[in-house]
Amino acid sequence: MNKDIATPIRTKEILNKYGFSFKKSLGQNFIIDPNILRNIVSNANLSSESGAIEIGPGIGALTEHLARNCKKVIAFEIDGLLLPVLEDTLSPYDNVKIIHSDILKADVAKVIEEEMQDIQDIMVVANLPYYVTTPILMKLLNDRLPIRGFVVMMQKEVADRITAKPGTKNYGSLSIAVQYYADAEVVMTVPKTVFMPQPNVDSAVIRLTMRETPPVQVEDEDFLFVVTKASFAQRRKTILNNLQSGMPSGKEKKQQIIDALMKCGIDPSRRGETLTIEEFGRLADALLPIFKQIKIFRK
Ligand code: SAM
Repeated sequence: MNKDIATPIRTKEILNKYGFSFKKSLGQNFIIDPNILRNIVSNANLSSESGAIEIGPGIGALTEHLARNCKKVIAFEIDGLLLPVLEDTLSPYDNVKIIHSDILKADVAKVIEEEMQDIQDIMVVANLPYYVTTPILMKLLNDRLPIRGFVVMMQKEVADRITAKPGTKNYGSLSIAVQYYADAEVVMTVPKTVFMPQPNVDSAVIRLTMRETPPVQVEDEDFLFVVTKASFAQRRKTILNNLQSGMPSGKEKKQQIIDALMKCGIDPSRRGETLTIEEFGRLADALLPIFKQIKIFRK
């Protein structure tokens, strides 16, 4: 087997060879501990028939572990200066394709269709650039890709919010936005010392397993997310107060909002953080006729 990229010595060698300097603005914190990478890959439960989509391969530290453990890896990297580096470091692997692109602008579904026709089991596995963790996850979830799930590293604080359960302090609209699509769990926490350079925040790896069907059927998904966002606008306020101030013309519709809450069996004095996704789903459907004329909910 080839020498791991993810050791402090080898990483420094590679960076020096190419005169590469880290760009903080692109969230470039590279992993320099192969044990962490083995652990990430093992949490993805890949087989020799699986495919992996990576975001931000950097100098290829995680990419090579993926290449060793699955059939094909497609990695999207925004920084053109890393392309010659990756060509060099990943030259021992013939099952990796690097795409020079901002993941937020990429048509990932089309890439999967073209590059992974013969692969049934696909996972997104990445050490995400922390400055765009949420937009990347939401884009890939909204794209409804034909994937089994995600194993991704991010700042611990975001991982805690994504995986939070109702009634806890981290539970909010992000937990619902993600858990609507996937079952979410933290699989490990990661110390700062395994990165070069070390980030200012703690990190964690989460696993998302895509749901076959959403936990609740709603008439309008966009509207569900509008209602959850409004419900958490001010955490100390009751759900009624938040809906009154967060929904368009909410104040004038106080009685209708109360009626909708009561119809769903939700006490108007509860706080948003106590509602389950199922309750938010029922509530969104009950509120929809009241706010239907407002077109801003449609994409
Ligand atoms: N995978 C490598 C590792 O674990 O050592 C590097 C991870 S580093 C945290 C994030 C990587 O994402 C960097 O290589 C960075 O250039 C890249 N990146 C940042 N923004 C991106 C974007 N919008 N699209 C694709 N890649 C991006």
